[in-house]
This record gives sequence, structure tokens and C-alpha cells, in this order.
Amino acid sequence: MTPAGVHQPDVIVVGGGIGGLSAACALARKGLRVRVLERAGAFGEVGAGIQIAPNCTRILASYGLLDEAAKLGVLPRAIVMRDALDGSELTRLDLADLERRYGFPYMVIHRSDLHGLFLRACQDAGVDLRTSQQVAEYENCADAGRAWLGDGTVYQAPLVVAADGLHSVARRQLVGDQPVNSAYVAYRGAVPIDRVRENDVSATDVVVYIGPRCHFVQYPLRGGEIFNQVAVFESPRARAGEEDWGTPDELDAAFAHTCANIRKGLPLMWRDRWWRMFDRDPIMTWVYGRIALLGDAAHPPLQYIAQGAIMAIEDGYVLAEHLAASDSIDKALAAYEAVRPEHCRHVLTASRKWGELWHLDGAKRDRRNEILRARDIHDYSFTDWLYRTTALTPDAEPALFREIPLGSPALPINIAGA
Ligand SMILES: Cc1cc2nc3c(=O)[nH]c(=O)nc-3n(C[C@H](O)[C@H](O)[C@H](O)COP(=O)(O)OP(=O)(O)OC[C@H]3O[C@@H](n4cnc5c(N)ncnc54)[C@H](O)[C@@H]3O)c2cc1C
Repeated sequence: MTPAGVHQPDVIVVGGGIGGLSAACALARKGLRVRVLERAGAFGEVGAGIQIAPNCTRILASYGLLDEAAKLGVLPRAIVMRDALDGSELTRLDLADLERRYGFPYMVIHRSDLHGLFLRACQDAGVDLRTSQQVAEYENCADAGRAWLGDGTVYQAPLVVAADGLHSVARRQLVGDQPVNSAYVAYRGAVPIDRVRENDVSATDVVVYIGPRCHFVQYPLRGGEIFNQVAVFESPRARAGEEDWGTPDELDAAFAHTCANIRKGLPLMWRDRWWRMFDRDPIMTWVYGRIALLGDAAHPPLQYIAQGAIMAIEDGYVLAEHLAASDSIDKALAAYEAVRPEHCRHVLTASRKWGELWHLDGAKRDRRNEILRARDIHDYSFTDWLYRTTALTPDAEPALFREIPLGSPALPINIAGA
């Protein structure tokens, strides 16, 4: 039922995460009436960091949100990759040089700040934002999609966008596949910078330590007031098929042999929650009648090239551009599907391979380190396909995989990661 005075929407977006809100903001900026249905009682995000690469900051700039985002976040000087066991530097990306090359900066920002930015943009654009709306089922009818809540309430619009995340109800109903368990788990921790003053940490760089079956990421947030850390490792209990996996005892064991800098950072991780890492196999069909998948619902990756939220933001941008430019919703959806699934397939595949490369052990780790140390730090041939994109056009054939003699499949070289 639509309360008196509230317009029927042109688009219903299910899910008010970064993907759903950024899409709602993009669509409303094009003059569409948008309603967001979020299952939680309030809009919000977890209080940790996120990395935003130039292929996303260019979109923030086009929305007029980049300056505010930059004030809220940090523009790091470099991404530095180190070996997790001995702490030595393997390679780096100079982010000032990166900005010159791609025209837009690399940024790290508190998730709730990025989410809040999109929430305010939605409010300013008149998006109808509704909480405590858990969608249980989707339906197509003549020239419209429907979203049903568990209590029988039904919302209908010419287009329904399902941005309901990794465990998407829409994905389950329309595609029917399952998330793929990587057996890796992430711990996060964001603390006031004073808590790490005694540790040997960089207040200006993103530092990524890579090691056997584990990695550790550090970077500053909120103009350097907060220090963010992410610890990711393979759970032996997950590999053994046990239910109770990824617990803090496994965290401690996974990093016991890592370098001193990581071990100093470990006590600052939150130990009351952790994120088991799932992705899904890529799919090339995202549009089912008037229901379209977007964000993690369409393409949840492993986070090793830090592109999950970015892909979601790109999806909303591309969908809005095509809806504004097209005389029919169906044509716009076809144009959306012609470009986004292929790009996201590349990202999902690269992320899995990048994880394999990071987590090598023994002689393969030694060989990887040799290759990374020998890498020209100004070689951008492996980031161009990702960071140069305008998201609207199909990928140029990505120079994605370089055969390196590690006895494993071809591996991508791209040092960003989460
Ligand atoms: C450790 C870690 C580090 C990461 N680092 C990065 C990074 O550096 N850069 C990057 O780009 N990405 C990163 N990501 C990935 C990124 O967080 C996700 O890809 C992104 O948040 C997906 O956004 P989304 O809006 O599609 O999904 P979600 O954030 O999952 O949002 C889905 C929303 O839908 C709502 N919802 C779910 N079901 C329903 C329903 N039935 N009805 C109504 N509402 C519903 C949920 O409550 C939620 O608000 C990282 C992820 C992890 C785990």
C-alpha cells in the first residue's frame, strides 16, 4: 500500500548497503523516483575501512561527492606490499603517480562515512528510504517487477533492483546457486591512532603483508585519526569440514609465525566478530524480466583486489546512465547486461587467482617474492584494465594474467587488496 502523498516509484531498490544506496542516488540524479527497501531497522555499515580505487573515485567525482569523500577519508601515498614472514618489502604502487595516470585518486575511507555520504545524497535527491522491510520473494508481472515482504505487503515498480548482498534472496530465487566457501576468514579492527603509536606502522601508506595461507592489511582512516587493520587467514577447521571455524584461537595460530609488526597489530583486532569469506561463481545473466541484480547479489568477489563495493557502485552508475539515455527500460537493462557481467567476471576470476598468489608457501613463495621484487614499480599494464575503465564500455581485452613459472595457473599482478 502506498501512503497518501507518496508517489509510486519508477524503481524499487532492495537493500540499503553501499550498492543499493549508491544505485538509488545515481537513479534519482537522473530524475527517477526511487524507493529503497532495507531489512534492518536503520541504515548503517560496519565501522571498518574500505579502499576506493580510481575507477570508483571517478564516479564519485561525477556525482559531485569526491571532495567530501576526500575530506572524510585519506589519500595514501603508496600501497606497499611486504612479506608476512620476514616483513621485507616486495613491491609498491606510488599513488600520486597512479592518480596522474588515471586522473582520479586512490582513497581509503571509513565504511560508515562512505555509506553516510550516499545516504545523505539519497535524502537530498528525494529517495523514499524505508527500513524494516525484509523482502521474501520477487515476482515479474506485465511490465513491472514486484517485491513481496514476509507479511504479504507487496511493492511494485517498472523496475526492481535487487541489491541484497551475498546471501541475496533474489539470487537464490532467480539463479539458485550457492555462495562458494573459500575457507578463509577476515578479522577487522579500527582503533584510535594513539593505540598504534608505539608500533612501527605507516601513517601514510596502505601496507599489505602477504604470507602462507594468510595476509594482513593496515591503513589510516579519517584524516589519520583512526588506524584500520584486516587479518585474513585460511581456517584449518573449515578445510576439515567443521562447523565451528574461524574462531580467535585460529587467528592467533595463523599469525604465530609472522613478523613482529603483524604480531604487534593482532591484539587490536576485534575478536567478537569475524567475516567468513565467500564468493560466487560468475554469472552472465543478471536481468530477469524487470528484476535486475546489482552489487554483491550479482558478483560477490573474494576481496583480494579490493573491488567488491567499487563494482557495486559502478553497476548503479551504468544502470542509471543507460536508463537516462534509453527510450525503454528493457533496452536499458539489455545495455546494462551487455557490459557489467563480463567486467565483473574478470574481477571475480582475478581475485581468486590473486589470493592464490598471496598465500603461497615454500619454494613457490620464494619465486613469487623474486618476481615481485623484480617488478618495475611503474608498470601499469596490469592495472590499466581495472582502473582506467569508465565502466560504461566493455573491457578492453584485459592484460590480466601473466604466465609466471610457479607451477600454478597464470596469475595477475595487481598489488591492491583487502
Ligand atoms: C574484509 C572485507 C574487506 C573488503 N574490502 C573492500 C575494499 O577495500 N574495497 C571494495 O570495493 N570492497 C571491499 N569489500 C567488499 C564490499 O564490502 C562488498 O562488496 C560491498 O559492501 C557489497 O555491497 P552491497 O550493497 O552489494 O551488499 P551489502 O553490503 O551486503 O548490502 C546488502 C544490503 O541489503 C540488505 N538486505 C539483505 N537482504 C535483504 C532483504 N531480503 N530485504 C531487504 N534488505 C535486505 C542488507 O541488510 C544490507 O543492507 C570488502 C569485503 C570484506 C568482507
